[in-house]
Amino acid sequence: MRRSLSRICSFSIHEDKVTILDRLQKLADQEKESLSHMIVVSIEEYLKKHEPGNPQKPLVVFGAKPILTCWKCGGRFAHVIHVEFISGLSAYLCPTCLEKEKAKGPYCTIKKVLK
Ligand SMILES: [Zn+2]
Repeated sequence: MRRSLSRICSFSIHEDKVTILDRLQKLADQEKESLSHMIVVSIEEYLKKHEPGNPQKPLVVFGAKPILTCWKCGGRFAHVIHVEFISGLSAYLCPTCLEKEKAKGPYCTIKKVLK
């Protein structure tokens, strides 16, 4: 079995912002995810919004389907489902992660599937 590689990072949080880490940890516990996963997803979402990227027109202008990131697994998909979690967070899930979450039955943290 091949082991995946991880980079261990450290960063500082200003005293005034420490509570956001506590809130993220609480959300991670609710979603049964690691804090590392939550931080990586947050970074990905920030980059998706703010990274300048290619100055050329995006392919969606020419009819290509947009590629969105699954909030759970971080995979990129042309088809994702917008859901709202019990915590109030709304995010996109790939079909596989949606089914895995639904399979948790009474422990499912999805409140509803959004349009
Ligand atoms: Zn997924």
